[in-house]
This record gives sequence, structure tokens and C-alpha cells, in this order.
Amino acid sequence: MPTIVFEGARSALPISLVQGSYIIAGLLFILALAGLSKHETSKRGNILGMIGMAVALGFIILGTVLGVSDTMQLEVLGQQTLVTGFIKQPAFSWALVVIVCAMLIGAVIGVIRALRVEMTGMPELIALFHSFVGIAAVFVGWVSYFAFAASGHFDPLHSGELFVGIFIGGVTFTGSIIAFLKLSARINSAPLKLPGRNILNLGALAVFIVLTVVFVMAPEGSTGLVLISVATVLSLLLGLHLVASIGGGDMPVVISMLNSYSGWAAAAVGFTLDNDLLIITGALVGSSGAYLSYIMCKAMNRNFISVIAGGFGSDGGVVGEEKDYGEHREIKAPEAADLLKNASSVIITPGYGMAVAQAQSAVADLTQKLRSKGVTVRFGIHPVAGRLPGHMNVLLAEAKVPYDIVLEMDEINEDFPDTDVVLVIGANDTVNPAALDDPASPIAGMPVLEVWKANQVIVFKRSMATGYAGVQNPLFFKENSAMLFGDAKERVGDIVKEL
Ligand code: NDP
Repeated sequence: MPTIVFEGARSALPISLVQGSYIIAGLLFILALAGLSKHETSKRGNILGMIGMAVALGFIILGTVLGVSDTMQLEVLGQQTLVTGFIKQPAFSWALVVIVCAMLIGAVIGVIRALRVEMTGMPELIALFHSFVGIAAVFVGWVSYFAFAASGHFDPLHSGELFVGIFIGGVTFTGSIIAFLKLSARINSAPLKLPGRNILNLGALAVFIVLTVVFVMAPEGSTGLVLISVATVLSLLLGLHLVASIGGGDMPVVISMLNSYSGWAAAAVGFTLDNDLLIITGALVGSSGAYLSYIMCKAMNRNFISVIAGGFGSDGGVVGEEKDYGEHREIKAPEAADLLKNASSVIITPGYGMAVAQAQSAVADLTQKLRSKGVTVRFGIHPVAGRLPGHMNVLLAEAKVPYDIVLEMDEINEDFPDTDVVLVIGANDTVNPAALDDPASPIAGMPVLEVWKANQVIVFKRSMATGYAGVQNPLFFKENSAMLFGDAKERVGDIVKEL
């Protein structure tokens, strides 16, 4: 068969190689997700994900710089002929230099931020990252729209894809910015309660569906431009309202929901740019984020659909309500040490305060000391303890606490009645009995660690202040509870010295 090879195509990457690298990267991402599902394999999962991303980026950069060559069989002058030519990028352009510079600047900023971020600041950082994915999807959608407009050729499928991509991207962008502001306490975490907020959200969705249909039918000219502009503004407003309506206690689900949205936004961009890897990666992030949201909703006894519609979980009592629960009792480190010396079983339930105090190593020392004295020590981890899923597990693993004594809430909740002492270290909402006893509480219905059923509870915190959800905790006033005030790291250290 005669062969025609375009000049330069010989030095370009064959498309089969690029597609092969995408499959390898996709497989590595799937293995990474599988690894992240267990403590023991999570490190390996992270490494596989990093290798996958390096492979994907490496081939994308090479393909962009060298060009990608494709081989086609065409009929030329009545003869079957093999034609090898470039697709996509030319070998060199100034645009390429700008892209590489932008990537380098982004990478440097990313590395610096990742090195500096405290574990307690991770949720905000993740929210900020999601916002970048969202705004990138909006930009790609707009650029593709102008490219289609310039070529004068809009096909319905691509028109629909770019419209949906812009919408999901816009919602993700503003939603993530609001989540960032709430999590970093730059704005109040109380829910915004506009009248008819669910109708507003659903109405915006309905308007978007109508706009999409009209845009797919008439994408050209000023009509298309107006429609796409309206959809962009609508999506930005919806993202803002969706997350602003969600109360502080429900923020963990919001984070994983935005994670899911950012994945779908990336998948939509993949369709627009015709990039298989972005579609695969976006779908993996989108579906795993949605599944995580579902698991968390189950753990918090929330309705998954109402989470997606936004503004759920804020119909309960007044945040920051004042109720008189009576007097609390205080305890000092030496007395706490005595109680622990005489105990045979201890459960430690850590919370966000342990992360703030960076008390994990002191807690690990205490655990080791008690175990060496024959005390059975275990940890009870609430699914939303801290400020992001797995927050406590990461801290305890960092302090080398053995995995087999770190148990999930469901695994340990029945054991509290047979436990001598519970140490609540910087946890509050996750051990609040009002969630079960008070239907008017903003956290009503959320499963909690039932620590008050133990013989004795010692609560480590600095004051009588409320936790993240802004509700008082009747646990602190129970007869078998005692408050050990001060920084958790210092107080745990004091007990270790006493032991
Ligand atoms: P909480 O935020 O309810 O309580 C933390 C407690 O730690 C506070 O009461 C605080 O009391 C105490 N604390 C703070 N600093 C210190 C310190 N240095 N030493 C000792 N104590 C300290 O934490 P929980 O982990 O119990 O609950 C998590 C909350 O966060 C839930 O409402 C959850 O919904 C929400 N959330 C969870 C996310 C997740 O994905 N896991 C994400 C976002 C929010 P004081 O100030 O008196 O010391």
C-alpha cells in the first residue's frame, strides 16, 4: 500500500503511545483509589496516584511539544493509501511557551502551599483546589464556544457538553470559594436561610435545563452568546447559594460533594477537549466523591438527595442556643492519672481539638504508657471527627498508633458501657448526646460516639465553648463527666508525667 508521511510526523508521538499512556494512568488512578480505602494501603495508594499523574502529565506535555501523529487509511486517487500526519498541536508555538511557564508557576505555588499547610488547614486548601477545577471548566467551555463560533460549525453534542461543563464548573467554583471562606472562618459558618431556598435551587436547575435545550438548538450568533452568559451567571449564583445555605455541622458532606462536582466538571471538559484521560479521571473523581458523600450522609443520618439540592440539615434548632444544663465538674491531671492507673479499659475519642493542639504524639505516648501497664486502650473515630474525612486516622498514623486499636464508630459504640474511662480529646459535636436526645438540636439525628455510657468520662478542652456546629454539649454537665481544661497536648503530657 502506498504511504504518505507528512513532514514532521516522524518526530511526533504516535497516538497509540499517547492513548496507551492514558490507559496506564487510568489504571494507576483506579489502583490508587482502591489503596486509599484502607489505612494499611493508603500510602501505597497515594504513591500510585502520583505515578499515574506523572505518567499522564509527562505524555500530555510531550504530545503538546512534539505533536501527536495519527495514521489513517484513505483512498487517494482510487488507491488505498496509508497517511501519517499531525493532529492537534504544531511542534512549537509561543502559546506553548506560555502554557509551560503557567504550569511551572502553578507547580511552584502548589508545592509551596502543600509544604506549608497545617493538617487543620487541609479542608480549606482542598476547597480552594476544587474552585480551580471549576473555574478551569468555565474557561475551557468559553474558549471552546469561541472556537466553534469562529469555525461556524456547532454540532449539537459538543454544544451540549460545553454548556453543561460551564454550568457544573460555575457551581463548583463559587460553591468551593464559599466552602473555603466558611472553613477558614473568614465568614460565618451559619446557614444562609433565604425564604424558599430549595425552590430557588431547583428553579435554577430547571432554568438551566431549558437554557441547555435552547442553546443546543440555536448556539450561533448573539442568541448563543446571551444564553451562555446567562448560564454562567446562573451557575455562579447557584454555587454560591447552594453552599451558603449549608450549616457548619454539615460541611464535611459539602466538601466531598464539591469534590464530586469538580470531577464531573473535569469530565465535561474532557468531552469538550476530546481528551479520554480527563474523561476517565473526572468520572473517577466524580463518582468516588459522590459515593463518599453518600457514605457520609448515611453516617450523619442525612438525606443524600437533599444534600445535592443544597441547604439541608439546617432546619433544626437555633445555632448557638443557650440552654441551662446545670454545673460542670473539673478535674486536674494528677486525679485523671489516678483514674487511668486504676482502669482496665480505656477508650480515647479524638476530635478537631487534638489536631489544633497537635497532641497526637503525646496521645500516642500516653497510649503506650497505659498499654505497658496492662490497660486495654482503643480509639473510637467518628466518621466526621476533625475537619475532613480520615483527619484523625492520618494524625494517629503519623504518631505511630497501631492501626488495630483504632476503630470506627460503628465498631466501638456498643463497648462504651463496659469501659472504665473515656478520654475525649478535643472532640465536641461528635460526642454530643443532644444529637440523639434533642430533636430540636441542629445536629439531631447525627450518630455520635456514646461516650457518656462509660463509667467515667474526662473531657480535654480549653473552655466551655461550643464545637464547630455551634451547639452546647450536655455531656459536659453529666455526673460521670469531668472537664480537664487547658491545651490538650500540655494536659496529656502532664498525665504522662504522672504515670
Ligand atoms: P468540634 O469542632 O466539635 O470540637 C472541637 C473541640 O476542640 C472544641 O470544642 C474546642 O474547645 C476543642 N479544642 C480546640 N483547640 C483545642 C486545644 N488546643 N486543646 C484542647 N481542646 C481544643 O470537633 P469534632 O471533631 O468533635 O467534630 C467535628 C465537627 O466538625 C463536626 O461538627 C463536623 O460536622 C465538622 N466538620 C467535619 C469535617 C469532616 O470532614 N470531618 C469537615 C468540616 C466540618 P475549646 O475551644 O474550648 O478548647
